[in-house]
Amino acid sequence: MSKRALEIIKKFKIQEATGLNLSDAIVLLEDLMDMHARNLLEKEKFAQTKKRALFLPHCSRKFMDGRCQAIFDANIPSYVCAHCSPDCLVNEATSLALKKGYDVYVVPGGSCVPKILKTKGYEGVVGVACGEEVRMSGEVLGSMDVVAQGIPLIKNGCANTAFNIETLLKTL
Ligand code: SF4
Ligand code: SF4
Repeated sequence: MSKRALEIIKKFKIQEATGLNLSDAIVLLEDLMDMHARNLLEKEKFAQTKKRALFLPHCSRKFMDGRCQAIFDANIPSYVCAHCSPDCLVNEATSLALKKGYDVYVVPGGSCVPKILKTKGYEGVVGVACGEEVRMSGEVLGSMDVVAQGIPLIKNGCANTAFNIETLLKTL
């Protein structure tokens, strides 16, 4: 996979486009390829699942400070979006997923995911996060027999991050 990642980085000038050094660019590409491969492998099984949840990253909220009106409930543990900003990605994604019958969690880190899964008994999970976080969560989900589909952030950085809402909609 590293060899293929290197070819892609050179062909599409990914270092020039992102400013990443070579080793970081390889890790980024490997994580995305790993996510895509897992999604393809699990796609049919995921389609059979009934009880589902969507996990969103807290870093995609419009605001990361007190302007975000979401309440963090440590008992879940998850933020609960208060829908304060119509142009907030987390708000948009939450509304879409709730309409489709998903439970939605906005988590500050992947470590919250197994805690939630242990008590809720979901069959299928859609997770939005950076490639590294999706890879780590995917390993945990696999060990818990939960079928997952990952959606990568298209802008990383742990604040003001973004994902593609159309990709999310198709996956849901
Ligand atoms: S819409 Fe929800 S997640 Fe976004 S800033 Fe408001 S409360 Fe926070
Ligand atoms: S960029 Fe990744 S590691 Fe950072 S907060 Fe978002 S999901 Fe978590």
